[in-house]
Amino acid sequence: VHCLRSRNAVFCGSAAAPRGSAFLWCFFFYIPDVNSFAARTNTCGELRAAHIGQEVTLCGWIQYQRQGLFLVLRDFQGLTQIIIPQDEAHSHVRKLLSNAPVESVVRVTGIVSSRPPGQENLKMPTGDIEVKVETAEVLNFCKKLPFEIKDFIKKSEALRMQYRYLDLRSSQLQHNLRLRSQVVMRMREYLCNHHGFVDVETPTLFKRTPGGAKEFLVPSREVGKFYSLPQSPQQFKQLLMIGGLDRYFQVARCYRDEGSRPDRQPEFTQIDIEMSFVDQAGIQRLIEGLLQYSWPEERGPITTPFPSMTYEEALADYGTDKPDTRFGMKIMDISDTLRRLDIGFVQNVLSYPHSTAKAICIPRGVRYLKNKDLESLKAAAKSQFNQVRQPDGSLKSLLTKFLSEEQQSELIQALNMQVDDVVLLAAGDHKRVCSALGSLRLESADLLEAAGMVLRDPAALHFLWVVDFPLFLPKEENPSELESAHHPFTAPHPSDTNLLYSDPTKVRSQHYDLVLNGSEIGGGSIRIHNAEQQRFVLEKVLKEDSEVLSHLLEALEFGAPPHGGIALGLDRLISLIVGSPSIRDVIAFPKSFRGRDLMGNAPDYVTPEELEPYHIHVSWPAAETEAKKN
Ligand code: ASP
Repeated sequence: VHCLRSRNAVFCGSAAAPRGSAFLWCFFFYIPDVNSFAARTNTCGELRAAHIGQEVTLCGWIQYQRQGLFLVLRDFQGLTQIIIPQDEAHSHVRKLLSNAPVESVVRVTGIVSSRPPGQENLKMPTGDIEVKVETAEVLNFCKKLPFEIKDFIKKSEALRMQYRYLDLRSSQLQHNLRLRSQVVMRMREYLCNHHGFVDVETPTLFKRTPGGAKEFLVPSREVGKFYSLPQSPQQFKQLLMIGGLDRYFQVARCYRDEGSRPDRQPEFTQIDIEMSFVDQAGIQRLIEGLLQYSWPEERGPITTPFPSMTYEEALADYGTDKPDTRFGMKIMDISDTLRRLDIGFVQNVLSYPHSTAKAICIPRGVRYLKNKDLESLKAAAKSQFNQVRQPDGSLKSLLTKFLSEEQQSELIQALNMQVDDVVLLAAGDHKRVCSALGSLRLESADLLEAAGMVLRDPAALHFLWVVDFPLFLPKEENPSELESAHHPFTAPHPSDTNLLYSDPTKVRSQHYDLVLNGSEIGGGSIRIHNAEQQRFVLEKVLKEDSEVLSHLLEALEFGAPPHGGIALGLDRLISLIVGSPSIRDVIAFPKSFRGRDLMGNAPDYVTPEELEPYHIHVSWPAAETEAKKN
């Protein structure tokens, strides 16, 4: 065993050489040299008391400047106080630095000195020292800013996006993007170096995939023909397995023409993974190991294996397939109690097939929720009605009209209601009731927290696998037709395979989602690797034109290995790690809510001449022609 230390790396290794082979095992702990190749000796976050007396050269932006006496220089690593010399010999330096507007970029050379006693700044990592400038150079002036950089984060998102390159100078975005890069680096290490995955790039110009998200079209020079930007590399990663690649991953850019939301935008990044000869448990253990390995230390350790819950349980207890398990307030089934209470209109609702009565109990809701909060909860789900248990122990609700005192206390007991609790009840179709109460549960949690209740620990990490999804769900717009719950390539649960041909609505799938604190951060499945079964699903169940996928169906006939995979949503994962409500805070150049790039103004018009090679003619609605002229 030997250890070597060089300027930037520590090598530890043991060499064992069985006869005829050599095996070297090494770890490298790199301390990156951030000053290499650059016209500086140190960064602005680097200098400490140990550097006192050294001559250093720093490059950075002027954060602020005070009366020609000193300035604070900033770069990606931090801030350093720079003392501007006042003596005659340095008058040109003083003039230069005093006149340079904030956010001008400068290079200074000087001597690291200790700050005068009492003037140390404990809040600044470099707060023990300052640099006394000898020479200075303004590398580029900054024109008058449209805002103050330090307050920039408070400006509207539209303005931040228009000047994204200035927003990127903020410590938050610097931190977010650097942390993102480190996490991805660790993921690559884990996948490639520890587990033999191969990083393969797949095309972004492809063709339409049936089912799923809406895809962006890209015109081609062939008359009437278009490419599609893939919503994920799904087909390619399966084809790579058929090609014997065995373990694939990619930091993949994906596109969905679905508009933006705080946790979604038209282009996004996935850690896309596929493996041969693997089952669901294998993928789950891989992902747990991957997250554990790449998880930033600052967010504390991750405990594995992650707990697991079936789709049915998630829906019944939390009303969603991505439960936030950081707090209770689970959905309770009160169908039996309500049936016994024999309230005419409730009875009527419960007489329909698949009907249930459910409730959630908001602890101390009376104290924390205002009338307007209850009104907003009511408005959020018309089907529900609320009950309040008053300090005298009685119920305050429309429903009480229909209940005797005895019945009221039976209900109170069934719900385990305490004084000051608020209960929301709903009766009707099982799925609709659960989803309605699921959203009300989350909304109530937000309201309780806004009113000061501590419900969810911001440091808590609740990972959860949701499994045993149905393979197909009724289409929202036409419930008599089916669509894939995940995507059409997902394999049925081995014990439900026969049902595929008799009652596809009852088939569970080998689809698994990974949830963190109530957000879906990944999803995948074991795939169908049998061409006949895949054709059956496409043609007979989903009623899709299988011709579009003839290449994949044919490939499955050439000895396709059993395989499965997953994709982790990198943007969402990183935004949860850094505690940001929007994925836009972890993407360097994000799109606006309407899918626009507000800095470069994309999408943009193109001239009819530019469209000619694509055989495209734009027919302008009158209003648009007017808008374009203006
Ligand atoms: N392609 C899927 C998705 O993008 C993930 C997978 O099944 O691996 O959601």
